Amino acid sequence: MTDTKKEDAANCKGLNILITGGAGFIGSNLTEYFLNKQAKVRVLDNFATGHRHNLEPFLNNPNFELIEGDIRSIADCSTAVAGMDYVLHQAALGSVPRSINDPITTNDVNVSGFLNMLVAAKDANVKRFIYAASSSTYGDSEALPKVEDVIGKPLSPYAITKYVNELYAEIFSKTYGLECIGLRYFNVFGRKQDPQGAYAAVIPKFVMQYMAYESPIINGGGDYSRDFTYIDNVIQMNERAMLTTNKEAINTVYNTAVGDRTTLNQLVQYIKEDLTAYDEKIATVEVIYGANRVGDIPHSLASIEKAEKLLGYKPSHTIKEGLKEALAWYWENLK
Ligand code: NAD
Repeated sequence: MTDTKKEDAANCKGLNILITGGAGFIGSNLTEYFLNKQAKVRVLDNFATGHRHNLEPFLNNPNFELIEGDIRSIADCSTAVAGMDYVLHQAALGSVPRSINDPITTNDVNVSGFLNMLVAAKDANVKRFIYAASSSTYGDSEALPKVEDVIGKPLSPYAITKYVNELYAEIFSKTYGLECIGLRYFNVFGRKQDPQGAYAAVIPKFVMQYMAYESPIINGGGDYSRDFTYIDNVIQMNERAMLTTNKEAINTVYNTAVGDRTTLNQLVQYIKEDLTAYDEKIATVEVIYGANRVGDIPHSLASIEKAEKLLGYKPSHTIKEGLKEALAWYWENLK
């Protein structure tokens, strides 16, 4: 390790970070990153959608601690925040279709659980509360690119919960002085994202289907587009939000994206091309087109100007660069 790298790795040394939802896709990547940077990381998770195998590599690390608990319990939240400097709140029930099928549980976890975490963080005097917000908050607004101040009406119960998070965080900043930053994630993908289950995200689902020579099903004509965001960009935003000393940069929300959009048809093409390098037979797999899904917005593209200006954010990976790394991971670990 060079001196610069050593310095870089040590810049979180001794910080106490609580990562809720740390057994999940984004949370386990954040956990790995901050442990590598010598922070002390505590995870709070109830394994509703997260996996023990995501945490296995850290179990013997003296800087890692796991609290198995539920954010719907204020007692669990209080235990988890005790002694913490920062909270990176990722725990939630994701997925628009899940929220349509079961709005009550989604609301309990994403709204009541969120409020519990805010109260616990305030009472424990944590330095800052960074939370996973969502691009779904843009709702039916057709404006492109999405800028943080212009939102529409939510299109799903999930989107409502994520918007309510922002409203609560703002009130906690104003009323109690709790420093909060919301990160509106745009379609995150990368290593460790779960390909299984009815509510799996589109990239891991398609990757697994191609690897099994099964036809991916695209909802609609494939012309819907998204600002697909590689996990390393999301990690960077969390770190910048946590460590910024710019007073103007706190108590607000940021698009967490690349600032580029890709249609579903382009996406499957990229995945297929990249995977064909591993297995030529994948070139013969064709997609199937199905009906559009309720609650899906046609296009999503972020402006990342605010994050660039106030947090110094610069995406490290385009979708294509991210896909190459993600596909290598899926091939090695899940083929
Ligand atoms: P994930 O399902 O992999 O991770 C969520 C984690 O939260 C899981 O480990 C789960 O077990 C845990 N959890 C759920 N309910 C809990 C509860 N009641 N108590 C404690 N832990 C609980 O999902 P992810 O993709 O890693 O998403 C992380 C966060 O980012 C979520 O808040 C999600 O809404 C948000 N988000 C994700 C995306 C994306 O594209 N992945 C986009 C926008 C927002």
